[in-house]
Amino acid sequence: MEGLRVLGENPQGIKCPQCKVVLNLITFDDFFQGYQCPKCEGLLFNRTTFRESIDFHRSRTKEPPEPLGKFDPFELGRVTFCSVCSQKMETFQYNGPGNIVIDTCHQCDLIWLDFGEITKVVNAPGRDRGLPRKKPVEKEQEKKEEKKRSVIDQSFIDLLGSFFN
Ligand SMILES: [Zn+2]
Ligand SMILES: [Zn+2]
Repeated sequence: MEGLRVLGENPQGIKCPQCKVVLNLITFDDFFQGYQCPKCEGLLFNRTTFRESIDFHRSRTKEPPEPLGKFDPFELGRVTFCSVCSQKMETFQYNGPGNIVIDTCHQCDLIWLDFGEITKVVNAPGRDRGLPRKKPVEKEQEKKEEKKRSVIDQSFIDLLGSFFN
């Protein structure tokens, strides 16, 4: 997947909800952070981070969109348990581009994407493709100041500190 960079195993030992192997920390477009399973290549993201990273990536893509895949209602029946709190995740159709089904943990504010789903979202047709958009740096800073971050966000900030300092 273009723009994805693997940083190595996440030191908290957060595991893939499907394969139970320790997820790798990744960056997307060298800015957005998430986790990826080294085995099934599924992705775990903070919900806001996912939305922002998709908006950003779609805005700078130069590739033509791919035809929209069919929504598969069968996928709504799958059951995924959150990697962090072990609660059952909510499975629903993503309301952004791509006709995909995602799993969300509201408590941890996380989403899980199976392999290939992010590509569908990135490559789906839409008017936002190729519209210039900045990385949400200023927004990020505002958020940090105004409200508490989720546990996972805070651990990312700490982690990234240890990676890049
Ligand atoms: Zn996996
Ligand atoms: Zn959770």
